[in-house]
Amino acid sequence: MNAQNEKIYRLLGEMHKDADCELDFGSPFQLLVAVILSAQCTDKRVNMITEELFKHASTPEDFVAMPVEELEKLIFSCGFYHNKARAIKEASASIVEGGGMPTDREGLMKLRGVGRKTANVVYAVAYGGNAIAVDTHVFRVSNRLGIASAKTPEETERQLMAAFDEDKWGHLHHLLIFHGRYTCHSQKPDCAACLLKEECNYYKNGQKV
Ligand code: SF4
Repeated sequence: MNAQNEKIYRLLGEMHKDADCELDFGSPFQLLVAVILSAQCTDKRVNMITEELFKHASTPEDFVAMPVEELEKLIFSCGFYHNKARAIKEASASIVEGGGMPTDREGLMKLRGVGRKTANVVYAVAYGGNAIAVDTHVFRVSNRLGIASAKTPEETERQLMAAFDEDKWGHLHHLLIFHGRYTCHSQKPDCAACLLKEECNYYKNGQKV
């Protein structure tokens, strides 16, 4: 981890002291469900949905038994509810068939209905594993800053893993999400309030708005 990246990590930490997972969950499986629901949806809305949803079903067995129409009704307001309901049902069936919730990244990635980003979040947040889940915020912010220069989330993930010490990966993921969510917005990044201007390729190249 070079001095420049250490500085970026430190400044992000100064700007986002509370950076952490904002999804509510009571078990690794519940986090998995919440992460599936969070695609294209705010964590705030997901928390509202899961507060009610987990009263009806909170284990893989519960979700396997729940009719898909009932599940769709309960998660309707988070959007893409057909796909998300199917993913939750498939992941739940996969966990039940496999004899329980996997605790390693490879096992999580093998679950049906679970993509790489979701597996990385669950591995890092629920199990304290070292992983960088690249969502839209992480992708945008890391490529703007120049700590990655990639065309895909997978490439970004590989470059961030190479550029930062392994014990920083999990927290870096949250720092980049917070930065994207609260400062480095997709349309109008708040560069005036950002401590990273001197380190940021996007800003230095005159892309500020
Ligand atoms: S300087 Fe602007 S574009 Fe660069 S990281 Fe900060 S908010 Fe984002």
